[in-house]
Amino acid sequence: MFRALVVEKDADGGTGASVRQVEESRLPEGDVTVAVEYSTLNYKDGLCLGPGGGLVRDYPHVPGIDFAGTVTASDSPDWAVGDKVILTGWRVGEVRWGGYAETARVRGEWLVPLPGGMTTRQAMAVGTAGLTAMLAVLALEDHGLAPGDGPVLVTGASGGVGSVATALLAAAGHEVAAVTGRPENDDYLRGLGAGEIVPRAELAETVKRPLESERWAGCIDAVGGAMLARVLGQMRYGASVAAVGLAGGAALPATVIPFLLRGVNLLGIDSVMQPRAARERAWTRIAAELPFDRLEEMVVPATLEDLPRLGAEILQGGVRGRVVVDVT
Ligand code: NDP
Repeated sequence: MFRALVVEKDADGGTGASVRQVEESRLPEGDVTVAVEYSTLNYKDGLCLGPGGGLVRDYPHVPGIDFAGTVTASDSPDWAVGDKVILTGWRVGEVRWGGYAETARVRGEWLVPLPGGMTTRQAMAVGTAGLTAMLAVLALEDHGLAPGDGPVLVTGASGGVGSVATALLAAAGHEVAAVTGRPENDDYLRGLGAGEIVPRAELAETVKRPLESERWAGCIDAVGGAMLARVLGQMRYGASVAAVGLAGGAALPATVIPFLLRGVNLLGIDSVMQPRAARERAWTRIAAELPFDRLEEMVVPATLEDLPRLGAEILQGGVRGRVVVDVT
């Protein structure tokens, strides 16, 4: 038996989540079993903890799209008992049982090794949000962004992706402008390395002119919607936007003019199906460059019991930084 946060469907179509003992025979198929130490909370987890999202196919369900822990059984040639591992993505926690449990079973090719010098708790303080932020930084750099080029905009900055993106960009020597709708987070964002705070309202209006003054040397966008459309018109010549999220909406009410007249690039970032080599590249950079003391300041500690409440909060944009769930 192991402890898990189980979501069940009610008779009226709603859902309820509670911590229970579950038999190990209920685990999904897979060649590696992991004793989960830490998990975390992402926007998607908020959806999977409640009835929304359409991500979960079968109930009862154990959410948790990422976890870090120790291998306890393995039929995979890649992993041995005692190895420290990280899992993010591959639709674990959505279509399969995930990390909100003491035990998880997955396929070996989905795991990456915990980088040397990093703890499983730190790995989950980074989590899917932080991995995605790193993938976005790498994409911008691969498209030519270099320190000294000018301010790099981060939207949804006090969220999970935005907080880690702000810290990673600043640590790599970039000037960071952080967009937030919560002025009470200004000091927090400056502490992470933001040099400028841009109030959300300044970018909230829909596009009136397809091109505005050239402001940003790059952008990591967690918000999408009207804000992304506005930002495209403010990018400098040849600059890139890494599109990561849709916290403000999935529509893109933009024109193609910034692409045609300014050579702006819109780079899509997906963390879920990212090949293993790209994941390992990103985790290696995170281990080398993320200021872990700053990361600690973003951490909101939590237990499995806290997750139904926190899941509802993240869907309202009410969580700051990174929730780290101690599963043990
Ligand atoms: P969070 O909820 O932690 O952060 C989102 C932030 O966006 C909020 O903290 C808030 O920041 C801002 N925000 C919220 N609502 C609005 C709004 N209506 N308009 C403008 N800004 C808003 O989520 P995560 O950081 O975990 O994820 C961010 C997005 O990235 C989500 O859409 C998520 O699904 C996506 N994502 C995508 C991944 C991928 O592989 N592409 C992987 C991980 C996440 P503030 O209060 O500072 O304004």
